[in-house]
Amino acid sequence: MGFRPSLICSVLATALAIPTASWAWGDMGHEIVGTLAYARLTPKARKAVDALLAKDKDPLTKPDFVSRATWADKYRDSDRTTTQLHYKATHQWHFVDIEIEGGSLQQACFDRPPLPAGTPASQGPAKACVVDKLEQFMKELADPATPTGEKTLALKFIMHFVGDVHQPLHAADHHDGGGNALAIEVVPSTWQSNLHSYWDTQLVKRLGSNPTTASAAVGKLITPQNAALWSTGSVEDWAQESNEKAKTTAYNFNGEKSFVDDHGSAGELLDAKYEARALPVAKEALAKASVRLAKLLNDAFK
Ligand SMILES: [Zn+2]
Repeated sequence: MGFRPSLICSVLATALAIPTASWAWGDMGHEIVGTLAYARLTPKARKAVDALLAKDKDPLTKPDFVSRATWADKYRDSDRTTTQLHYKATHQWHFVDIEIEGGSLQQACFDRPPLPAGTPASQGPAKACVVDKLEQFMKELADPATPTGEKTLALKFIMHFVGDVHQPLHAADHHDGGGNALAIEVVPSTWQSNLHSYWDTQLVKRLGSNPTTASAAVGKLITPQNAALWSTGSVEDWAQESNEKAKTTAYNFNGEKSFVDDHGSAGELLDAKYEARALPVAKEALAKASVRLAKLLNDAFK
């Protein structure tokens, strides 16, 4: 009995998918948020942000604003297969896994321990959720007493985490690592992956063939009315909103047939109807993240 080609493909796909199951919008999602947020900065905020980034020699990404929006993922993954120092210290900061059945933000944020006195947020405990990290880094960014190096780190984490908290599966869990452990197959293409990765990258690719065209498509949602409407609420509100989207859309298979993949894992078939429900949600989430990131930076550098 030979290997079935589909089995080999699937094993390869799984092997390739695991290291990139990244608990984050893929680069393109963050680049869209970066592009649209940068365009909304006031001249004063833009000058302050540019000045901080200009001094930053970190080689993990290019130095421009849009590239730096992906930096926190690169930093987390920079030693993921070696010492895991950056990985273990920061990987939990990218999400808030609120269980969709009976979960709470308090629980998903490890009971919200305060940052120990005198500790820079970039050196804070590994067990912290994206909501608390955003609040800590925002405080540092607005405080003139924060040393420049820490302020730059705060800026780079904020630029990334505002994007992450808007990905519904960064604010929700169904005992499956925010969808990382839920196998999916997109029909009719037969593309297999996991639900989290589908939302991180696959849906975003449907918005445009590159970050520029996708940003233009997402940017159309940012009308003055929407921008005013979205420039409200706390980080906690945004996380709860993402969690709600996960319940109503990401985890709503609405009678789609489940399937069993080649490894025996039960999963969900995602068809055109699922995509038609999911795509506008992903698009709006990216638009909201852009408006809110710009608002936070404009307020920090008033
Ligand atoms: Zn991330």
